[in-house]
This record gives sequence, structure tokens and C-alpha cells, in this order.
Amino acid sequence: MREAAELLATLPTGLWIGGHQTATEHTFPVYNPATGQVLTEVADATAGHGARALAAAAEAQAGWAATPSRTRAEILRRAWELVMARRDDFALLMTLEMGKPLAESHGEVTYGGEFLRWFAEEAVRVHGRYTHSPSGGGRILVTKQPVGPTLAITPWNFPLAMGTRKIAPALAAGCTMVVKPAAETPLTMLLLGQVFADAGLPPGVLSILPTSRAAALTDPMFTDERLRKVTFTGSTAVGKTLLAQSASRVLRVSMELGGNAPFVVFADADIDAAVDGAMAAKMRNMGEACTAANRFHVDNSVRAEFTAALSERMRALQIGPGHLDGVQVGPLISERQRDTVAELVRDATDKGARVTTGGSRVAGDGYFYEPTVLADVPADARILREEVFGPVAAITGFDGEAAGIAAANATEYGLAAYIYTTDLDRALRVAEALESGMVGVNRGIVSDVAAPFGGVKESGLGREAGTEGIEEYLETKYIALP
Ligand code: NAD
Repeated sequence: MREAAELLATLPTGLWIGGHQTATEHTFPVYNPATGQVLTEVADATAGHGARALAAAAEAQAGWAATPSRTRAEILRRAWELVMARRDDFALLMTLEMGKPLAESHGEVTYGGEFLRWFAEEAVRVHGRYTHSPSGGGRILVTKQPVGPTLAITPWNFPLAMGTRKIAPALAAGCTMVVKPAAETPLTMLLLGQVFADAGLPPGVLSILPTSRAAALTDPMFTDERLRKVTFTGSTAVGKTLLAQSASRVLRVSMELGGNAPFVVFADADIDAAVDGAMAAKMRNMGEACTAANRFHVDNSVRAEFTAALSERMRALQIGPGHLDGVQVGPLISERQRDTVAELVRDATDKGARVTTGGSRVAGDGYFYEPTVLADVPADARILREEVFGPVAAITGFDGEAAGIAAANATEYGLAAYIYTTDLDRALRVAEALESGMVGVNRGIVSDVAAPFGGVKESGLGREAGTEGIEEYLETKYIALP
């Protein structure tokens, strides 16, 4: 593909530290999951680079915090304009390094870019308060200040949006940031670094450090007294490790962790609408989304109808390399991820689940797996408890509202949940009873730049986006006055 070769030839591949591209002694390869071939090599950051980036962040912190919020906002706004101007490059790059179909990559450019515009608008609306003590004995002044230098660690599944959802509120709040992108997808973030430089971001405010050895880079940063906060998106297992590390210096933390989203279809649901919603909730990003519907709990009275309709839609999807026209399902990120999906399908079928469509790897190059529907999934199947992160819909039945709620809540996760019902009272009752940070009612997609994104239970701590997102990067200070 000539377009891809031209883009790759002009991309920054060095570390981005203190406003400069930095080459390193060692590099590591970035692969195209549609072919298994190397796309390019990028610089490989070590602990020494981490210390340099943190030093740059600490040095820039006071100046950035003192920069008028209007100026910070205008830089963010300019960065949004530049991302939009380069939307074709960002989209192609994400398809190349992550695998999602080009149309979905364009969707992520819009969604991921939007955090830059949203937090440009939020930057100038950080408020405090001034009140009197009820005792009459004094005045209370409350103000917000930036937390300080922050480390962001991001996953591969949304290479742009998982970065901008952290970078934009941090910069808006007046914090500096060091970003460690996922090793699978560092190119998008390095291009974003260039965009920020073009937008006029002062050196040191943002550094970007790809690495093949995450812990070796970030472990020493947790004990460095210049670091004030860690914001992480990724698996619950890694999140727990980072929480333990953060405890040693009582760092502020934001954790967006794993999910196991239930998709609950009640007897009174509009089944056509539920199937549309299921396709979006399951198949966006090939199922590699923390909000992806992981298990479908369907009232037994409508289960056969729902299963047949969903299977038909899944069977019709076109699989292939994401840059090709008409492709709806790209490859999974790696062979390891495909093995995990295959293993969870095998476990379910061994225990009695029925495959109504798909169920196999696609032969040939790349890490493709067929869109799959598993019917009659038994309660002890691992796929009902573990995040599959792939294009597999596991369907199981229940009888009545209380059983549906109980099934949905039977997990240690609590990120997103989806319900389909035409009864407004039931929708509100169930939405309130679900143990999750986000509930989609008759909708298969919940993410919105203006809404608080985040989970409860083992799905995380804190919220991103919305008016809440900037709070994660602000400290509250109380000044007592006579
Ligand atoms: P992961 O936890 O393996 O990796 C995430 C990031 O952490 C990567 O950058 C990785 O290099 C880094 N990392 C891993 N071990 C580390 C360590 N010891 N120290 C420092 N950094 C370390 O997750 P993944 O496979 O990249 O992403 C998939 C997971 O992310 C899924 O569980 C998914 O649900 C979750 N996710 C959550 C959200 C959310 O907002 N809640 C969004 C997207 C993905």
C-alpha cells in the first residue's frame, strides 16, 4: 500500500522528551496485526529516559500551571484542529498498528480528538467557592490547583482516544504529563506528540515514551518524588499492581480497568432494536473494548428469536484487513489475544454451549477470528466471568426481572451494562439496581465526551471525560480566613 508506506516514512519514531525527538540505542518493532509484518521500528525508552522525561515535566510544571487557562485552552483547541486536519493520517495509522476497520478508525479520530476540544472548553471553567462558616467564626475559601506531574499508561485498543482522554484534562488543569503508550500501538501517540508541538505546547509539558519493557521504565518513576499522580487504562491485574506501587508514596490515582459488561434483554424488549444494539456493543473494535458486551442475558421467552437474529447479523459481517473497502471486522491485536478468544470458546463448547455461527480462527495471514455466537452457554463457562476481548457473543437465558439483574451483577467487574426494555419504569429500576459505572438503556454505545466514563468494583477508580474528568487532575485547597 503506497499510502501507508508514505505515511510511515514521515512518522516520528523517536521518544518525545522535553520538546525534542530523541533517538535511543535500541528500538523495537511495531507490527501490523492484519499481516503479522513489521510496520516500522520505534525508539525503546529505558528508566533513564523516564527520569529525563519526569525532570522535564517537573521543570515545566510551575510555568504551565501559571499559564493563563485561556492560553492552555487555545493550545488544546489548536491540537484538536490539527488532529482533524490530519484525520486521514491518524485513521490509517490506527488501522495499520491496531487493525480496526478504517471507518472505525475515523470514528476514533472524531471521538479521541473531541477530548481535546471538550477540555479546551473545560480549562476555563475550573471553579472554587467562598462561604461563611455556619458558626459565624470565619470565612471559607476553596480553590483548585493542578495535581502536578502525572504519569499516564495507556492500552492498545484505542490508540488515540485512551491517550487524549487523559492528556487533554491533565493539560487543561495545568498538569504536565509523561505518557507511556502500549508497545503494540505507539505510533499514533508519537504523531500526537508532533501535533502538540505544532500547536505550540511548551517543551516538557508532555513527553511520550514508547518502550518494550513497561515495568523497567515506570517502576522507578513511582518512587520518584517529582511524580504526583498515575492515570492508567488497562487490565485489572496490571491496575492492581500499579495501585500497590502508588501506595508507597500515596500517589493520586485514576484507574480505568477491565470490564465484563452484561447485555440484558428483557421479555418486553424491541428485539430488532436489541439486535442492532448488540451488534454495536459487541462488535465495535472487534470486541476489543472494555465496554464491549461480554455476555448476553436474554429472557427465555425471547431468547430463541434474539439468538437467531443476532447470529444472522454476525454471519453477514465482512472480515479482512481494515484498510480495504467494505471490511467490518479486522484482525485481533495479536496471536496471543486470538488464542485467548479460541480458548474461551473451546471451554464454553466443551461445557455444552452451541456455536450458531463462527467459532474458528480464519486461516492465512494475520490474527483474524470469525464473528461468533455461542447459544445455551452454561453458567460455569469461563466466558461468562472473563473478558473475552474478541468478536464472540455468549448468550444465556433467565426468567424474570429479578433473575436478570442478579445475573448481570454476578461479577467482580462493574464498568458498563446494557439493558433493553420498552418499559420506562423497568428501565429506571434496573439501571439503578445494576452495579456498574455506566448503563446503556436501549443503546449499544455509551461513550460520550460529555459523560463521566468509569467503573465501580474491580473496574476502576475515578472518571474520565464529562465535567468530572478534569477533577482527576485537580487538588482541592481550603484557605481559612478570619
Ligand atoms: P494491559 O493491562 O496488559 O496493558 C495496559 C498498559 O499497561 C500497556 O501500556 C502496558 O504496556 C502497560 N503495562 C503492563 N504491565 C505494566 C507494568 N507492570 N508497569 C507499567 N505498565 C505496565 O492491558 P491491555 O492488554 O493493553 O488492554 C486491555 C485491557 O484494558 C482490558 O482488560 C480492557 O478492559 C482494559 N481497558 C479498559 C478501559 C477502561 O476505560 N476501563 C479502556 C480500554 C481498555
